[in-house]
Amino acid sequence: MPCMKLGTSYFGSRILRHVREDMKKMADDGCNFVVHAMSEHDVAYHAGTMVDVVKASREAGLEVFLDPWGIGRVFGGESFSQFVSTYPQCRQRLSFPEGEITISKVCLNSKTFKDFMLAWIELAAKTGAEGVFWDEPHLFFGEFSPLFGDKKRDVWGCTCKTCEGLFKETHGYEMPMDFTDEVKAFRQMTIVHFLEFLANAAAKKGLKNAVCLFPTTDPRYGIYEWEKVAMIASMDIFGSDPYWYGYKQDVVEFVGSVSRDVVALSRKYNKEPQIWIQGYRVPENREAEILTAVDVAYHAGIRNIATWSFEGTDCMTYVRSERPDVVWQHVRSAYLKYRNT
Ligand SMILES: [Zn+2]
Repeated sequence: MPCMKLGTSYFGSRILRHVREDMKKMADDGCNFVVHAMSEHDVAYHAGTMVDVVKASREAGLEVFLDPWGIGRVFGGESFSQFVSTYPQCRQRLSFPEGEITISKVCLNSKTFKDFMLAWIELAAKTGAEGVFWDEPHLFFGEFSPLFGDKKRDVWGCTCKTCEGLFKETHGYEMPMDFTDEVKAFRQMTIVHFLEFLANAAAKKGLKNAVCLFPTTDPRYGIYEWEKVAMIASMDIFGSDPYWYGYKQDVVEFVGSVSRDVVALSRKYNKEPQIWIQGYRVPENREAEILTAVDVAYHAGIRNIATWSFEGTDCMTYVRSERPDVVWQHVRSAYLKYRNT
């Protein structure tokens, strides 16, 4: 009987004894896959440890995906980037001709960064993981007002020399500094091409590809036509993360509508639809909404559900839930309910 895919992310420990214990608990609590964060810090200092972490996870019966957690500060993740300080010329440049606002985010068109990502994929393949998880790839967008006498001004990336050159090549004129439709399309294509590059390279190494888009089609966040990502041939799993507590949305409406959109595009392009459930920063007394979210996603046709993160994200105060143990009890109940359906 084909069973539901149920998983959670993990970044709490690199001590194998604890990892083994946690992976066993994860499996006992209904998970059959895990998404391990593999940050720049891990690449630099835990390369061998990650091989052991993946091995321990597989021994617990879990399928393993690796996540380039916060790498270059252009994926989701609470982790610093050494890359941007080592290669400051690869940083995104913002649409701010009056001067320079330095940001610690790398340009997705940077060849040096793409090479770095190829090395990340190489390590991911070496660990023996089944797949990779491309989480919330994005470019910078900010609304600055205190600098401009409280007049709102949109400042976005990337306007570096490489991006300017590519824009001119595509459009035949200089890249505007205003947030025009052409700029929106160019930024979107930058992210799509980057994802396609990564997914093709990972597929060649025998890795499955999963992608998670922000639960919005606001062009400021980059991807406003999800179809462009769903179309990527080497992408296997297509998903989003409708974190209803975070976005202050109604759980049924938000998780329902995002799930239906993900399912529709996945059917059209033969992808496996995936939905992420918010298991971090969960407010006290609202934990039962997790069960609702899983039900809503399931009824929309989702059979691959993941939660961010293990044990209510107890290991990190910045994103910890108010009652992480209660959060995880609810995730566990939901997962055990659907484990064999
Ligand atoms: Zn650029």
